[in-house]
Amino acid sequence: MNTPLDWLEALRPGPHLSGRSWAALEALDADLAALARTDPGTADPAARSAWLLRVRGELARHRPPEGAASGPWQAAAQFLAGYRDLDLREATGAGHGQVILDHAPPDLAEYWRERLAAGGLVGIAATEAHGGSRIREITTAAVPDADGRWRISGAKRWVSRLTEAEAFVVFARDPDGDVAAVVVDADSRGLTRRVIEPAGLGGWSWGLLDLDRVALDPRTHLLGRAGQGGPKHGTAIFRSHFARFRPLVTACALGAAAGVCDRVRSTLAERRATGGVPRIRDNALIALGQSWAEINAAALLAFHAVRADSAARAGRATCSDCATWSDRATWSDRAIWSNRAAWSDLAARAGKAHGVDAAVRAVNRLAPLIGAVGFQRAHPIAKARADLAALQYADGIHDGLYRSAGRELLAGRVGEPVRDGGPAR
Ligand SMILES: Cc1cc2nc3c(=O)[nH]c(=O)nc-3n(C[C@H](O)[C@H](O)[C@H](O)COP(=O)(O)OP(=O)(O)OC[C@H]3O[C@@H](n4cnc5c(N)ncnc54)[C@H](O)[C@@H]3O)c2cc1C
Repeated sequence: MNTPLDWLEALRPGPHLSGRSWAALEALDADLAALARTDPGTADPAARSAWLLRVRGELARHRPPEGAASGPWQAAAQFLAGYRDLDLREATGAGHGQVILDHAPPDLAEYWRERLAAGGLVGIAATEAHGGSRIREITTAAVPDADGRWRISGAKRWVSRLTEAEAFVVFARDPDGDVAAVVVDADSRGLTRRVIEPAGLGGWSWGLLDLDRVALDPRTHLLGRAGQGGPKHGTAIFRSHFARFRPLVTACALGAAAGVCDRVRSTLAERRATGGVPRIRDNALIALGQSWAEINAAALLAFHAVRADSAARAGRATCSDCATWSDRATWSDRAIWSNRAAWSDLAARAGKAHGVDAAVRAVNRLAPLIGAVGFQRAHPIAKARADLAALQYADGIHDGLYRSAGRELLAGRVGEPVRDGGPAR
């Protein structure tokens, strides 16, 4: 019998997931396995959503050990969660709340550090009717009040965690017309939510978020402007957040595909052992081998993107998350940082599209091998297929991600020799 930790065992290159970090993952895996046995199933969406929130609360104490590389640990945690069910992608970690921790004024960040540590959930509201792939064209807008507050109005679409989130990071135009990111409490007056039933990723509720003159104070609830470092504008905050978030989602998707792969291979092994089939045909063997290889290859890219993002954020030649890069310390710090940031952003975008596509391909290839049983609506393989298909849109539509990666490559910002004191090639 294979376990999700067996997959991770093979995927953990270097020291990032050893010692205390590995022990913490084993503890998380044991708790995930125990909680999975209490899953009420998907028939009643409200009961499932309540269960997912409870799981998140119970697993909130699972986090990377003090001083350990947090990015690789969280990616591994996402893989373990996805192996059971993609709906568990927020079983641990800050999720979209990370954008508040990274960019909020200190008091708001501190408040959310505590809320998230207690299992609170944050949603992102970016997409509008004109298309989520064009965030620069958003129309949701803030107008200033006499008392210095803002009134925000607009209509957001396809927002996940719609009823479970305690707050949303809303992308809106500030009074100067620039795209800004603001934190809006879910119980704000003027905010209404309309739930729509999704075809996949239905664990968290999903739908429309309308804002009608919702009041907020930009001094406390505007991200990126209160003197803290990092990007100031909403589009840069969006980009920075998803450079960190997408590899985690990808790890979760590949965990889901690994779960399907193990389920199919144990079914085949059992059929052979019990004499149900005289031998396993070549097409099934090839499908298993191809899927195993593709899942591992895509997961390696996702894990690498996580480490690249950690290194880019560290912004210095010696990165605690990625000791292997310290041997390039002769490069100028600034040049290394900008190259890493461009590379990690590229790896996050193309890696998410590729990783989820690889997971979709693997599951589509494997599902028919166990027959009609896997096509029952409630079957985990049928669910994984629907969830993964939805994930080709959620957190970045795939043609858009590949296209922007190609544009970046053509512009030459990634992989170019570093001129500013960098190595001669
Ligand atoms: C399950 C799920 C969960 C989601 N959760 C969230 C969430 O929590 N928060 C949130 O804000 N959003 C969320 N989304 C929305 C998601 O981010 C968007 O679906 C995605 O960004 C794509 O936007 P869109 O669906 O509006 O498609 P569009 O942006 O309209 O794109 C659709 C197609 O049109 C193409 N296209 C765009 N412009 C052109 C053009 N000029 N010519 C030709 N083709 C073009 C695109 O390339 C794409 O193929 C979620 C979506 C799903 C499915």
